[in-house]
Amino acid sequence: MKADPFDQRRLLELQATDTAIAQLEQSLKTLPEAERIPALQREAIRLRDQVSAREAGIADLDRDIARVEKEIAVVTKRANNDRDRMAAGSVTPKQLEGLQSELESLANRQNELEDQQLELMETRERLEATLAGHIDQLKNSQAAQQEAERARDAAVAEVDEKIAHHRQQREHLSASIPSSLVELYEKVRAKKPIAAALLRLRSCESCRIEKSPADLAPIRAAGPDEVLRCEECGAILIRTEESGI
Ligand SMILES: [Zn+2]
Repeated sequence: MKADPFDQRRLLELQATDTAIAQLEQSLKTLPEAERIPALQREAIRLRDQVSAREAGIADLDRDIARVEKEIAVVTKRANNDRDRMAAGSVTPKQLEGLQSELESLANRQNELEDQQLELMETRERLEATLAGHIDQLKNSQAAQQEAERARDAAVAEVDEKIAHHRQQREHLSASIPSSLVELYEKVRAKKPIAAALLRLRSCESCRIEKSPADLAPIRAAGPDEVLRCEECGAILIRTEESGI
Protein backbone atom coordinates (compact mmCIF):
# COMPACT_ATOMS: atom_id res chain seq x y z
CA MET A 1 0.00 0.00 0.00
CA LYS A 2 1.19 3.49 -0.81
CA ALA A 3 0.20 6.73 0.91
CA ASP A 4 1.52 10.28 1.11
CA PRO A 5 4.14 10.40 3.94
CA PHE A 6 2.29 13.43 5.31
CA ASP A 7 -0.92 11.37 5.60
CA GLN A 8 1.04 8.50 7.14
CA ARG A 9 2.29 10.87 9.84
CA ARG A 10 -1.26 11.97 10.55
CA LEU A 11 -1.93 8.40 11.66
CA LEU A 12 0.32 9.19 14.64
CA GLU A 13 -2.02 12.04 15.57
CA LEU A 14 -4.99 9.71 15.17
CA GLN A 15 -3.21 7.17 17.36
CA ALA A 16 -2.43 9.83 20.00
CA THR A 17 -6.10 10.80 20.08
CA ASP A 18 -7.23 7.18 20.41
CA THR A 19 -4.68 6.57 23.16
CA ALA A 20 -5.90 9.67 24.99
CA ILE A 21 -9.53 8.49 24.72
CA ALA A 22 -8.60 5.00 25.96
CA GLN A 23 -6.69 6.46 28.90
CA LEU A 24 -9.57 8.76 29.81
CA GLU A 25 -12.03 5.85 29.62
CA GLN A 26 -9.72 3.82 31.85
CA SER A 27 -9.42 6.71 34.31
CA LEU A 28 -13.21 6.62 34.77
CA LYS A 29 -12.80 3.19 36.35
CA THR A 30 -10.23 4.35 38.89
CA LEU A 31 -11.36 7.85 39.81
CA PRO A 32 -9.82 8.83 43.18
CA GLU A 33 -13.05 10.74 43.86
CA ALA A 34 -15.01 7.47 43.71
CA GLU A 35 -12.64 5.45 45.92
CA ARG A 36 -14.29 6.32 49.24
CA ILE A 37 -17.86 5.64 48.11
CA PRO A 38 -18.03 1.83 48.65
CA ALA A 39 -16.56 2.13 52.17
CA LEU A 40 -19.03 4.90 53.00
CA GLN A 41 -21.90 2.80 51.65
CA ARG A 42 -20.83 -0.13 53.84
CA GLU A 43 -20.54 2.17 56.84
CA ALA A 44 -24.06 3.54 56.24
CA ILE A 45 -25.47 -0.01 56.11
CA ARG A 46 -23.69 -0.89 59.37
CA LEU A 47 -24.94 2.27 61.09
CA ARG A 48 -28.50 1.78 59.80
CA ASP A 49 -28.44 -1.76 61.25
CA GLN A 50 -27.28 -0.38 64.59
CA VAL A 51 -30.03 2.27 64.55
CA SER A 52 -32.65 -0.40 63.77
CA ALA A 53 -31.34 -2.67 66.53
CA ARG A 54 -31.45 0.17 69.10
CA GLU A 55 -34.94 1.21 67.95
CA ALA A 56 -36.14 -2.37 68.30
CA GLY A 57 -34.57 -2.50 71.78
CA ILE A 58 -36.41 0.68 72.78
CA ALA A 59 -39.71 -0.69 71.43
CA ASP A 60 -39.19 -3.85 73.55
CA LEU A 61 -38.50 -1.73 76.62
CA ASP A 62 -41.59 0.39 75.94
CA ARG A 63 -43.68 -2.78 75.92
CA ASP A 64 -42.11 -3.89 79.22
CA ILE A 65 -42.65 -0.45 80.75
CA ALA A 66 -46.30 -0.44 79.65
CA ARG A 67 -46.78 -3.91 81.15
CA VAL A 68 -45.27 -2.85 84.52
CA GLU A 69 -47.35 0.35 84.54
CA LYS A 70 -50.49 -1.66 83.92
CA GLU A 71 -49.59 -3.97 86.80
CA ILE A 72 -48.94 -0.96 89.07
CA ALA A 73 -52.39 0.39 88.14
CA VAL A 74 -53.99 -2.95 89.04
CA VAL A 75 -52.16 -3.08 92.40
CA THR A 76 -53.03 0.56 93.18
CA LYS A 77 -56.69 -0.01 92.36
CA ARG A 78 -56.81 -3.12 94.53
CA ALA A 79 -55.20 -1.25 97.46
CA ASN A 80 -57.63 1.69 97.03
CA ASN A 81 -60.56 -0.73 97.09
CA ASP A 82 -59.20 -2.35 100.27
CA ARG A 83 -58.75 1.05 101.89
CA ASP A 84 -62.29 2.09 100.85
CA ARG A 85 -63.69 -1.07 102.43
CA MET A 86 -61.76 -0.43 105.64
CA ALA A 87 -62.91 3.20 105.76
CA ALA A 88 -66.56 2.14 105.27
CA GLY A 89 -66.19 0.28 108.56
CA SER A 90 -68.55 -2.58 107.62
CA VAL A 91 -65.90 -5.27 108.07
CA THR A 92 -65.37 -7.81 110.83
CA PRO A 93 -62.12 -7.70 112.82
CA LYS A 94 -61.02 -10.86 111.02
CA GLN A 95 -61.71 -9.27 107.62
CA LEU A 96 -59.86 -6.13 108.78
CA GLU A 97 -56.86 -8.23 109.63
CA GLY A 98 -57.02 -9.88 106.19
CA LEU A 99 -57.28 -6.50 104.46
CA GLN A 100 -54.33 -5.07 106.39
CA SER A 101 -52.20 -8.06 105.51
CA GLU A 102 -53.22 -7.75 101.84
CA LEU A 103 -52.45 -4.03 101.84
CA GLU A 104 -48.99 -4.82 103.15
CA SER A 105 -48.26 -7.34 100.41
CA LEU A 106 -49.76 -4.98 97.80
CA ALA A 107 -47.44 -2.22 99.03
CA ASN A 108 -44.47 -4.60 98.72
CA ARG A 109 -45.53 -5.61 95.23
CA GLN A 110 -45.95 -1.94 94.27
CA ASN A 111 -42.43 -1.19 95.51
CA GLU A 112 -41.04 -4.06 93.49
CA LEU A 113 -42.89 -2.95 90.38
CA GLU A 114 -41.78 0.65 90.81
CA ASP A 115 -38.16 -0.50 91.13
CA GLN A 116 -38.57 -2.50 87.92
CA GLN A 117 -40.16 0.51 86.24
CA LEU A 118 -37.27 2.75 87.29
CA GLU A 119 -34.68 0.25 86.08
CA LEU A 120 -36.44 -0.13 82.72
CA MET A 121 -36.66 3.64 82.28
CA GLU A 122 -32.96 4.04 83.07
CA THR A 123 -32.06 1.36 80.53
CA ARG A 124 -34.31 3.10 78.01
CA GLU A 125 -32.54 6.41 78.64
CA ARG A 126 -29.14 4.82 78.03
CA LEU A 127 -30.39 3.20 74.83
CA GLU A 128 -31.85 6.50 73.66
CA ALA A 129 -28.49 8.20 74.17
CA THR A 130 -26.71 5.46 72.20
CA LEU A 131 -29.38 5.66 69.49
CA ALA A 132 -28.92 9.44 69.22
CA GLY A 133 -25.17 8.87 68.80
CA HIS A 134 -25.73 6.32 66.05
CA ILE A 135 -28.21 8.59 64.28
CA ASP A 136 -25.64 11.42 64.35
CA GLN A 137 -22.96 9.09 62.95
CA LEU A 138 -25.35 7.89 60.26
CA LYS A 139 -26.20 11.47 59.24
CA ASN A 140 -22.51 12.37 59.05
CA SER A 141 -21.76 9.25 57.05
CA GLN A 142 -24.63 9.92 54.64
CA ALA A 143 -23.48 13.52 54.21
CA ALA A 144 -19.93 12.31 53.48
CA GLN A 145 -21.31 9.81 50.97
CA GLN A 146 -23.36 12.48 49.21
CA GLU A 147 -20.32 14.75 49.10
CA ALA A 148 -18.18 11.93 47.65
CA GLU A 149 -20.86 11.17 45.06
CA ARG A 150 -21.05 14.82 44.06
CA ALA A 151 -17.26 14.95 43.68
CA ARG A 152 -17.30 11.71 41.64
CA ASP A 153 -20.12 12.99 39.39
CA ALA A 154 -18.22 16.22 38.78
CA ALA A 155 -15.04 14.27 37.96
CA VAL A 156 -16.95 11.95 35.60
CA ALA A 157 -18.54 14.93 33.84
CA GLU A 158 -15.11 16.51 33.40
CA VAL A 159 -13.63 13.32 31.90
CA ASP A 160 -16.71 12.80 29.70
CA GLU A 161 -16.28 16.31 28.36
CA LYS A 162 -12.62 15.63 27.51
CA ILE A 163 -13.55 12.36 25.80
CA ALA A 164 -16.23 14.13 23.73
CA HIS A 165 -13.67 16.76 22.74
CA HIS A 166 -11.14 14.10 21.66
CA ARG A 167 -13.82 12.19 19.74
CA GLN A 168 -14.69 15.36 17.84
CA GLN A 169 -11.01 15.92 17.07
CA ARG A 170 -10.71 12.32 15.97
CA GLU A 171 -13.62 12.68 13.58
CA HIS A 172 -12.03 15.73 11.88
CA LEU A 173 -8.68 14.03 11.78
CA SER A 174 -9.86 10.75 10.29
CA ALA A 175 -11.89 12.65 7.68
CA SER A 176 -8.67 14.38 6.58
CA ILE A 177 -6.74 11.11 6.03
CA PRO A 178 -7.32 8.96 2.92
CA SER A 179 -9.95 6.37 3.76
CA SER A 180 -7.86 3.36 2.68
CA LEU A 181 -5.18 4.36 5.19
CA VAL A 182 -7.76 4.90 7.94
CA GLU A 183 -9.27 1.49 7.14
CA LEU A 184 -5.89 -0.17 7.51
CA TYR A 185 -5.35 1.67 10.79
CA GLU A 186 -8.77 0.57 12.12
CA LYS A 187 -8.10 -3.01 11.07
CA VAL A 188 -4.80 -3.09 12.98
CA ARG A 189 -6.28 -1.23 15.92
CA ALA A 190 -9.02 -3.83 16.29
CA LYS A 191 -6.21 -6.23 17.26
CA LYS A 192 -3.85 -3.99 19.26
CA PRO A 193 -4.10 -0.67 21.08
CA ILE A 194 -1.11 0.90 19.29
CA ALA A 195 -1.87 0.52 15.58
CA ALA A 196 0.36 3.30 14.23
CA ALA A 197 3.82 3.57 15.73
CA LEU A 198 6.70 5.92 15.17
CA LEU A 199 9.98 4.31 14.24
CA ARG A 200 12.18 6.19 16.68
CA LEU A 201 15.92 5.58 16.85
CA ARG A 202 15.40 2.34 14.92
CA SER A 203 12.85 1.01 17.46
CA CYS A 204 9.16 0.45 16.90
CA GLU A 205 7.29 2.54 19.50
CA SER A 206 4.53 -0.04 19.71
CA CYS A 207 6.53 -3.21 20.52
CA ARG A 208 9.70 -1.32 21.58
CA ILE A 209 11.87 -3.77 19.64
CA GLU A 210 14.95 -2.29 18.02
CA LYS A 211 15.33 -3.15 14.37
CA SER A 212 18.38 -5.18 13.45
CA PRO A 213 20.51 -4.01 10.50
CA ALA A 214 18.90 -6.81 8.46
CA ASP A 215 15.38 -5.55 9.33
CA LEU A 216 16.43 -1.99 8.61
CA ALA A 217 17.62 -2.71 5.09
CA PRO A 218 14.13 -3.05 3.51
CA ILE A 219 12.88 -0.09 5.58
CA ARG A 220 15.72 2.06 4.23
CA ALA A 221 15.10 0.80 0.74
CA ALA A 222 11.35 1.51 0.81
CA GLY A 223 10.12 4.68 -0.83
CA PRO A 224 8.68 7.38 1.50
CA ASP A 225 5.14 6.71 0.25
CA GLU A 226 5.37 2.98 0.96
CA VAL A 227 3.19 2.05 3.99
CA LEU A 228 5.37 -0.15 6.20
CA ARG A 229 4.36 -2.59 8.92
CA CYS A 230 6.44 -3.65 11.91
CA GLU A 231 7.64 -7.22 11.30
CA GLU A 232 7.42 -7.90 15.03
CA CYS A 233 4.03 -6.54 16.05
CA GLY A 234 2.21 -5.62 12.87
CA ALA A 235 1.86 -1.91 13.72
CA ILE A 236 1.92 0.58 10.85
CA LEU A 237 5.46 1.90 11.08
CA ILE A 238 5.79 5.65 10.52
CA ARG A 239 9.14 7.06 9.51
CA THR A 240 10.19 10.59 10.45
CA GLU A 241 13.50 12.41 10.92
CA GLU A 242 13.59 10.79 14.38
CA SER A 243 13.69 7.29 12.92
CA GLY A 244 17.50 7.10 12.82
CA ILE A 245 17.67 5.38 9.44
ZN1 LIG B 1 6.46 -3.25 16.51
